[in-house]
Amino acid sequence: MPISTSDGPMPARRTTVRDVVVIGGGLAGLTAARSLGSRDVLVLEADDRLGGRIRSDDRAPYWLNYGAHLFGGPASPVGSLIDSCGIETLPVEGSFTAMAFPRRLVTGGGPTTILRTAPLPLRARIAFVRSGLKILWHSREYQRFTTSLKNRPPSEVNRALHAFMDDRTFAELLGPLPRELDHIYRAIANRAQADPEELSAGAAMSALALVLTKDRALGRNVAGGSGRIIEALAGQLTCSVTTKAEVSSVAADHGGVTVAYVDGDGPQQVRAHHAIVTTPPHVTARLVQGLPKDTAGALRSIQFGPSIVMAMLTRERRPMPWDGLYSAVVPGKSFNMFFNQANVLRSRERSRRAGGSLMVYASGPLGRGLMDRSNADIRDLFLRDLYDIFPELIGLVEEVDLQCWEYATSYAHSGRAALQSALDRDLGRISLAGDYLGAWFADSAVLTGREAAAKVERQLAEHGSRSDRDRQRSTESWAGDP
Ligand SMILES: Cc1cc2nc3c(=O)[nH]c(=O)nc-3n(C[C@H](O)[C@H](O)[C@H](O)COP(=O)(O)OP(=O)(O)OC[C@H]3O[C@@H](n4cnc5c(N)ncnc54)[C@H](O)[C@@H]3O)c2cc1C
Repeated sequence: MPISTSDGPMPARRTTVRDVVVIGGGLAGLTAARSLGSRDVLVLEADDRLGGRIRSDDRAPYWLNYGAHLFGGPASPVGSLIDSCGIETLPVEGSFTAMAFPRRLVTGGGPTTILRTAPLPLRARIAFVRSGLKILWHSREYQRFTTSLKNRPPSEVNRALHAFMDDRTFAELLGPLPRELDHIYRAIANRAQADPEELSAGAAMSALALVLTKDRALGRNVAGGSGRIIEALAGQLTCSVTTKAEVSSVAADHGGVTVAYVDGDGPQQVRAHHAIVTTPPHVTARLVQGLPKDTAGALRSIQFGPSIVMAMLTRERRPMPWDGLYSAVVPGKSFNMFFNQANVLRSRERSRRAGGSLMVYASGPLGRGLMDRSNADIRDLFLRDLYDIFPELIGLVEEVDLQCWEYATSYAHSGRAALQSALDRDLGRISLAGDYLGAWFADSAVLTGREAAAKVERQLAEHGSRSDRDRQRSTESWAGDP
């Protein structure tokens, strides 16, 4: 994302001093802003919309989804946030472990069914059993480990999770594989944004535990689309929010924080007692001035992969082969994941409602290989492969929209755990938040947003914020940075 900068010293002027400036209006930023409800907060968001990587468009009774779509139940961080916003989530009833081969959908019974029915030669089946047993063993171990971390502080949990099987890659864990099986594991690893040679074995177990374990951590979808979470959160904010405000610098000094940004009226500056920075790590490393070397280095070392997402509305009038599944891994095609968003509605219908909502994406190295292609090219390529898997879909796609996330989600490479202490460093008046700090995607965004807000709240209470004494916004004379 291009960063605008203002040239030369700022002219002397009177300026508002906020309690907190939150940089970034994604889930972490909005959670932090909501948690600081009684404070004088300004949220600055570079985009023309809030929500960051949570985005959907309403097409009642369906929706087009472009970003996060699976969340935990009420006991999870996002689940409790969704609950507190009064939003309805629906359990995913359909299969999570389907695999889509050309004209052959393998679904229903998990690994055993895949073994029985997937079009794989004998040597690939034998390797599938060997690798499958290893994966089941380690993903259960991962689940036991996460259970043992319950009630520990989020930063401790992050550190422990990143250290889990961090000493080897997923490829090293799997060992050499026949080509057909390599395609399958590559598609699965690409969902977590990396090739098996890049992804840590622990990160792969974390991703697989989400779908293999009975008690799925991410098993709910938002009726009407995930964008509803953002609408509800934004609707509950009592603070100021400015979109199309791209922050170019965040600098702390002895008396506060200066945030420089560019909005529709040109370069601006705002002073605050504290700042919470929720931008992606490579942006954060550029924005925050005077970061300790190891923290800046750790922020730049976080690995992200892209996702090219295609959301579709369909107009079928009869049951379809994908009705009973929620997600399918797609080996050896231009996209690696297929999702049936409408699956969560099906179990509530007395008879199958007409139409549907699907989503496919190419993520990690697969997505990167498509980044230079035009939207029209990608759409044609995705549709061609989709029709190859589901010929029933031909002629039924009535709306298509693409979203390219250059920085879709971060992944843990082998050695990622060593970065955590530099990321957790106390930066005084500046706090960092965002999903990349943890291992649980949107849950990590919420947890780190809440944690940053709680830290700022403690600091404000300790030092006595002006807004405690006087709810009117205070002003002070100030000429640029001291
Ligand atoms: C395709 C896809 C599917 C996903 N599926 C799931 C899922 O099913 N479940 C799940 O839990 N998670 C999922 N995720 C991940 C989830 O979306 C993220 O974990 C979460 O939304 C991250 O929130 P955040 O606030 O940390 O970051 P972001 O949402 O990226 O927010 C950061 C914000 O900062 C803004 N910004 C950047 N630079 C500047 C600047 N200079 N000045 C001001 N603002 C700036 C950005 O515009 C953005 O709005 C998915 C992500 C993608 C892309």
